[in-house]
Amino acid sequence: MKCKKCGANDAEVYLAYSNLKLCPECFMLLAERKVRNTIETYKMLSKNDNIGIAVSGGKDSATLAYILSRSFEKIPMTLIYIDLGIPDYSQHCLEKVKELSKIIDRDLIVYSLEKELGFRIPDFKSTIYGRKMCSACGTVKRYLFNKITYDLGLTKIATGHNLDDTVEAIFNSYMEGNVGALVRLKPVLPKTHPKMMPKIKPLICLTDMECLLYATYRNLPIRMLECQFAKRSRTIRRKEVLNLLADKIPSFKHTFISSHYRRILPLLEKALGGQSVGDEMGIFDCPVCGMPTSLRSMPCHFCKIVSLLKRKA
Ligand code: SF4
Ligand code: ZN
Repeated sequence: MKCKKCGANDAEVYLAYSNLKLCPECFMLLAERKVRNTIETYKMLSKNDNIGIAVSGGKDSATLAYILSRSFEKIPMTLIYIDLGIPDYSQHCLEKVKELSKIIDRDLIVYSLEKELGFRIPDFKSTIYGRKMCSACGTVKRYLFNKITYDLGLTKIATGHNLDDTVEAIFNSYMEGNVGALVRLKPVLPKTHPKMMPKIKPLICLTDMECLLYATYRNLPIRMLECQFAKRSRTIRRKEVLNLLADKIPSFKHTFISSHYRRILPLLEKALGGQSVGDEMGIFDCPVCGMPTSLRSMPCHFCKIVSLLKRKA
């Protein structure tokens, strides 16, 4: 079977949602075009930007960094890696992001939790009381990516959230009736506090599988190890359910996300009285670190879990 685009090479990739069979070269060009279109549609980048790219050693952030760097050569970009201190895993991922930064010829900032703050993610074990480590890890990463971007004087941060991640997060917020989270799940999160850096998600147009195929065909350095704490989380189980739906209705994820952004989100924002992201709850300064928080007169989530950790130490 020949590629439906070029008609010359053998087709290797089947995109069920659009019934397209493509050769690797045409697939990669399509993925890059989709990311550029997303960036244009949501006005994610401007020529004065100097952006940070959150990298983890995984397929999504490698794909993101490669496509951004290649498509927007003139925009300054810095890769930011947080060394979480997870035995074997963090070192392995660090080697991958170092290789990636060489391939795309962009600077890499490595922030070591242990060196900078004196703890590692596994140290949170005594504070999570049976909950998943990923919750503490997520809080630490969200906080630090924002803070590092701010401290470096960059204009915004790009993250590798893809279509599957976003559909899963929207689906979960619907299930929980969490309107605040639903309104924040946007492709672009603007600056709503002087220290809250704008966030962009250029990969929301690519599925998990497309990111994996892209990184593989481009031969990008991606981790081969799984984090020891990533054990069949609820997120993974919800993704499996959504994949079952997509098996029956191939366009399910694309239709779901586009209905949400085009039809539901504007209604939700209207219902919230035209308030922008975060306004519905307010954004305050953390009394401990001075960074933004939704908690009035209370330490931010990051400061809370770090102080708990120190008390347990
Ligand atoms: Fe952190 Fe969980 Fe990812 Fe491991 S699997 S790096 S603990 S978020
Ligand atoms: Zn704080």
